[in-house]
Amino acid sequence: MVYTQHYCAKCASEQIRRNGQSGGRAKYQCKACGHQGYFQPAAVEKARQYAQVDQLLLERNSLRSIARATGVARNTIARRVKKSGATGPALAPAPTKKGATQALGSPRT
Ligand SMILES: [Zn+2]
Repeated sequence: MVYTQHYCAKCASEQIRRNGQSGGRAKYQCKACGHQGYFQPAAVEKARQYAQVDQLLLERNSLRSIARATGVARNTIARRVKKSGATGPALAPAPTKKGATQALGSPRT
């Protein structure tokens, strides 16, 4: 069972309660500031963040700059680089030798 903690989008307080639903989505009301809004599931937010990370990795940004821009931890980005098998900016310099590209499994020969 996975529990997700929701926070107020305005004041980031944990003191929120369910306040009905609209359009199939649950609404919440913050007890601290009175703000009302929709729950943003953590999975959706994470997927959006990771898509941005993948895009920045394609543009060959450094891990630190991606971490700074997206708020995703550097180790998480490094893990995604490893998992995807992509050549990260810090892990592999620009391939200059023919042998280096073959070792990385590039489709180009
Ligand atoms: Zn609030």
